[in-house]
Order: sequence, then structure tokens, then C-alpha cells
Amino acid sequence: RTKKESRNGYRFFSNQMQIQTTRHLQLVNALRQAIALKQLTVHYQPQLDLHTKKLVGVEALLRWSHPQLGEVQPTEFIPLAESSGLIISIGSWVLEQAVQQIERWQEAGITNICVSVNLSSIQFRDPELPSLVQAILQRYHVLPQSLELELTEGVALENPEGAVSMMDALDQLGVRLSIDDFGTGYSSLSYLKKFKVYKLKVDQSFVRDISTDDEDKAIVIAIINLARSLGLKTIAEGVETPEQKAFLLTHGCDEIQGYLLSQPMASEEATAYLLANQ
Ligand code: C2E
Ligand code: MG
Ligand code: MG
Ligand code: MG
Repeated sequence: RTKKESRNGYRFFSNQMQIQTTRHLQLVNALRQAIALKQLTVHYQPQLDLHTKKLVGVEALLRWSHPQLGEVQPTEFIPLAESSGLIISIGSWVLEQAVQQIERWQEAGITNICVSVNLSSIQFRDPELPSLVQAILQRYHVLPQSLELELTEGVALENPEGAVSMMDALDQLGVRLSIDDFGTGYSSLSYLKKFKVYKLKVDQSFVRDISTDDEDKAIVIAIINLARSLGLKTIAEGVETPEQKAFLLTHGCDEIQGYLLSQPMASEEATAYLLANQ
């Protein structure tokens, strides 16, 4: 390689990095004001019990609509919220929105709907988390069993002892804990013995080709059986087709969530959906 080429290569790389960094800085600065400027909203995606055919829950999913940047995806801004520390204030805002929504639904006669909230591992390491959750539940007169907190396998990996005591503290409050994106982490399964887990969320990457891919079929069946042996519930994420639903029903999966039921919906639309499908 000539010197000129490598210099151009370097310059290209450097420009790319510059663009990345500029976008990151721009997003972090914008995110800092997003709550105050009312750019964040929480959407809700329904979850169906395959045994009773009833809606049993919704997952709260954060949305960010910026006047210039447009809709920024959570997969882009959540990591930035984490690296900048903003996830603590954003995460508690999401928790409060979700719990307030439970209260509103209960007032509207929508009971027996559990709202699950995604927790970043950074929130999970915050010693204030249990008292925050308790305070929010009390503020809105919501029972803890109406709230579920979703964690990823990573929390077990980063600080096993701390994770066990945090799990215990949250369990003591009476909230349910589920493992999101189950099967995609690199953690050992032994944490399932020590953690007070209620539900495993089968990752959508295994569900996608469930009708055609024998390996995905085997993995999903194994997760369902593992959960059942441990006395845990299962929910499959990313269910888009009747074929996927039928497979999951046949193999004893408890619940489904995905575009087959509905996309995540803004509060009002979700309320109408829950009322119409109660
Ligand atoms: P997740 O918790 O695994 O959420 C499921 C994602 O799958 C959501 O993407 C949802 O919109 C999408 N999804 C649902 N049904 C289907 C389907 O049938 N097909 C396909 N292809 N996708 C489906 P979303 O809303 O873009 O969120 C992405 C991730 O961002 C979430 O993954 C979660 O890890 C994170 N996230 C979202 N909201 C929050 C939040 O409030 N706090 C934290 N810490 N993370 C959040
Ligand atoms: Mg989730
Ligand atoms: Mg997931
Ligand atoms: Mg995820």
C-alpha cells in the first residue's frame, strides 16, 4: 500500500469518526432536554395469554420525537442515555409514566393488566432503585403485582452478588422480574437458581424463523421447557404471524407479544385497544 492510500484511508476513517462523534454529542445534548421539552413519550405493546386468550399485560417502550432529528430509535438513544448517565433520570421518568398509566387504566375499568418496564443495567445498579419504585407505586396507589421490570442477562454477569441482593429487594416489594432477550446473552444459567425471576422473554431473533428453521425451533422449545421445569413463565417476543403463534401455543409458551397483536401504541390508542379487547 502506498503512503498516499493509507493517508486517505486514515482520513476517511477519521471523518467517519468525526461524523459519529458529532451525532453522538448532538443527540446527548438534545436528550438532556428531551423530558423538559416533552419530546419523550411511552408507547405500550399488548401481551396475550395463549391459555386464556386474554390480554394480560403491555410492555412500555420509550419513544423520542425530536423536531429536527425526527424519530430517534431507542436502540440508538438508550446506549447514549446510558453512557451519559441520563438513563437514571429518563428511566425513573418512564417508570413514573408507566405506573401513572396503570392507575388511569384501573380508573377506566381496565384491571388485570400488568405493565412491564425495561430497566437498564445502570438503573439496576442504583441503590436508590427499590425505594424509587416503592415511592412511585405509593404515589399512584398501584399494587406492586401490576408492575413488571425487565432485565437483561447482562446484569447477572456484571455484578452477581449485587444483582442477587437487588433482585431480592425488588422481589420484597412484590414487583415481578423478567429476563428480556433471553438466550442472547453470554451468562451461565446458574443465575436462574439464585434470582427471583418470574418470566423469561424468548428473544425475537429465535422467534423470527420459528416456522422454517429447525435450530430456532429447537432453541425455543428448549427455553420453554427450561422455564417450565424451573417454574417460570415464558413470553415470546416479535410474534408476527399466525404460524409463529400456533407453534408457540403447541409447545406450551404462555404468552405472546408482537406485531401480530399490535405495534406499540401511544397511551390513548392503547387504552382503546385494551377496552375493545378486554
Ligand atoms: P426490547 O425490550 O426487547 O423491546 C422489544 C422491541 O421489539 C421493541 O423495539 C418493539 O417495538 C419491537 N417489536 C415488538 N414487536 C415486534 C415484532 O413483531 N417484530 C419486530 N421486528 N419487532 C417488534 P423498540 O421499541 O425499538 O425498542 C428497542 C429496545 O430499546 C428495547 O428492546 C429495549 O431494550 C430498549 N428500550 C425501549 N424502551 C426502553 C426504556 O424505557 N428503557 C430502557 N432501558 N430500554 C428501553
Ligand atoms: Mg423489553
Ligand atoms: Mg426483548
Ligand atoms: Mg432489548
